Parts: sequence; structure tokens; C-alpha cells
Amino acid sequence: MKKILVTGGAGFLGAFLCERLLAEGHQVTCLDNYYTGAKANIGHLLGRSGFNLIEQSVCDPVAGTYDEIYNFACPASPPHYQADPIYTFKTSVLGTLNMLEHAKKWGAKILQASTSEVYGDPLVHPQNEPYWGNVNPIGVRSCYDEGKRGAETLIYDFQRHHGINVRVVRIFNTYGPGMNPGDGRVVSNFIVQALRDENITIYGDGRQTRSFCYRDDLLEGIIRLMNAPDSVSFPVNIGNPAEFTIRDLANIVLETVSSRSKLIFVPQPQDDPMQRCPDISRAREYLRWEPKVALREGLVATVEYFSERVAIQAVQGVKIA
Ligand code: NAD
Ligand code: UDP
Repeated sequence: MKKILVTGGAGFLGAFLCERLLAEGHQVTCLDNYYTGAKANIGHLLGRSGFNLIEQSVCDPVAGTYDEIYNFACPASPPHYQADPIYTFKTSVLGTLNMLEHAKKWGAKILQASTSEVYGDPLVHPQNEPYWGNVNPIGVRSCYDEGKRGAETLIYDFQRHHGINVRVVRIFNTYGPGMNPGDGRVVSNFIVQALRDENITIYGDGRQTRSFCYRDDLLEGIIRLMNAPDSVSFPVNIGNPAEFTIRDLANIVLETVSSRSKLIFVPQPQDDPMQRCPDISRAREYLRWEPKVALREGLVATVEYFSERVAIQAVQGVKIA
């Protein structure tokens, strides 16, 4: 039984991580300021033995001591992280610095939720971890991309200078039940639009690619990384290497939902990466991990989840997306 802190624990991934770690018998503390997450996401865990909640920013001093810290606090969807880019950058860099200071003081192991965005609009394909990336440092995405790169810099400087025990996971696009329907990312947008028979908004010509990983596969890989030998302190990609164009994704969502929606094409956002696919050789070799859930299968479970949410929110008259 370990004492574990999950920052961003009331978000899409953090809430399921809290639930899983609690089910494994650990004492879990969720820290969140509900910037993009919600108390409702962890409502079913409140009052359970071993679960604690801290409502504050990851940038502020944190009470308690922990064996492990999963640092997930940061808005992750482009519209959310671009809404207040200075907030995003500060959360990523100052939040990680704060967690590293805490880990240093109390001897905790820390796992950083990094991202495929550290590769920017990549010139190497598929992306492997030694690739340094192709990031615009002054564009609209840089608050997130450079924020996460800065966080990685801090992690490895703390490791070199203070001997901190670190893990870095570079997460590739992940989806699944529990996503916020108003999140603004492609999977949630397309499913909500299809369920409502609204136009499916393809940004650009839809030939850009992404590789979609199911939530449970991702969390399995992340927990394996935290529990891997201390020598596995280098960054590890976790994602599903099956690559789809955004247009393919739209058609698969339409088939899954049996919708009457039509595809429409709208301007592509600045610096949108054109091709993304993880090289998961490290995860295979060091974690014995690979994804099990194919996109079509994962979408069925995700659509089921959204069907209930969209129906409920429509009744309540709440606008989604
Ligand atoms: P999310 O937006 O659902 O969750 C982020 C959580 O962090 C939210 O609960 C939010 O309220 C919280 N948060 C934001 N600012 C905070 C602050 N200053 N202090 C405390 N809490 C704060 O996003 P997610 O998809 O669950 O992503 C979780 C982590 O994984 C993020 O760090 C993200 O960068 C990373 N990631 C996710 C994906 C993905 O596809 N889901 C891909 C790459 C990286
Ligand atoms: N996208 C789209 N329509 C949408 C939302 C996103 O075509 O309604 C595209 C977006 O331009 C990008 C891809 O889908 O090429 C993935 O976008 P998302 O915001 O989910 O994540 P990203 O990988 O860009 O962070």
C-alpha cells in the first residue's frame, strides 16, 4: 500500500487513474482546481476509505507526504489550453517545479504526464523518443508544447542535480468514456455532432493523421511505467500505433453512431501537426506493454457513454461544445 498524489485527478485521465490506484489498495489523494475537470468526475470516490481530496492549484504548496506523485494537472485540449495560454504555461512549468520540490523534500518518485506535442509538427515518422521534435516556440500551441518541454527539462535537471526518481510518459491522443462532451478534442466533438445529427467539423482537408489510444490501455501503460525499475527513467511513448486520417475517423464515428450528419470542412488551426504516430518500441521492450483495444471497439464504448451524457444534458438544456 502506497501513499499516492494524483494532480489533475478530477480530469478525464486523472479521475480514472485515482479510481484504479484506489482499487489496487493504495491511499490516493486527488489534487485539482477544477479548471477543466469537475468534482463530479471523482464524486463516486468521495467518502471511500483511502481517498482524499485537495482543492487547490498544483502551483501552490501542497500538504502531506507521498511515496509517488502522478503529475497530470494541465489543460490538455487545444481550445482549453489556448484560452489562457499564460495560465497553461505556468501550470505546466511552475506546477511541475512545485511537485519536483515536494518530491525532493520528501523523497517521492514522480511521474510526469508529458505529451506527443513535444514532437510538434514532426519531421520524423513514426515519432520515437530520441527525436527532439519540430515545435514553433512562439505559435498558439507553444504554451502547451513548450510548457510540457520545459517541464521535461526541469524533471531531468532535478534528476541530474538532486537524484530525484523520475518517470516521463509521452501520451499520444487518448479517448474513452469519461471525456467531457464539451472538451473540444476531435473524438468528443465528432461523437457529439454525430449523436445530434449536426455537421461533423473537419479542420482542413482531413488528411492530417492521429493515432488514438483507448483510456484503459493508456492507464495500464502508465502504471507499468511508474512501477518499472528505476533505470527506466527516460521518456516513454504510450499510444496506439494504428494511424488514421481525421477523415477516416469521421467516417468510423458516422458508422458507429449511424448518424445523418454530413462532413463539413473548416479552416485548419495554426501549427496543427500533420502526421502523428507513436513508435512504441520502448514501451514494448521495457514495460512489456502494447495496446489491446482497437479504435472501432473503443469507440463503441465511448459512444455509449456519450449517448447517455448528451441525452441528459439536452434535457437540462446545457449547451455542449
Ligand atoms: P483534462 O483537462 O481532463 O484534465 C486536466 C486536469 O488538470 C483537470 O481536472 C483540471 O481541472 C486540472 N488542472 C488544470 N490546471 C490545474 C492547476 N493549476 N492546478 C490543479 N489542477 C489543474 O485532461 P486529460 O486529458 O485528463 O489530461 C491529463 C494530463 O495528460 C494532462 O497533463 C495532459 O497534458 C496529458 N495528456 C493527455 C492527453 C490526452 O489525449 N488525453 C494527451 C497528451 C497528454
Ligand atoms: N479536429 C477536427 N475537428 C474537430 C476537432 C479537431 O478536424 O472538431 C482535428 C484537429 O485539427 C487535429 C486533430 O483533429 O488535426 C486532433 O485534434 P485534437 O484537438 O483532438 O488533438 P491534438 O492532437 O491536435 O492535440
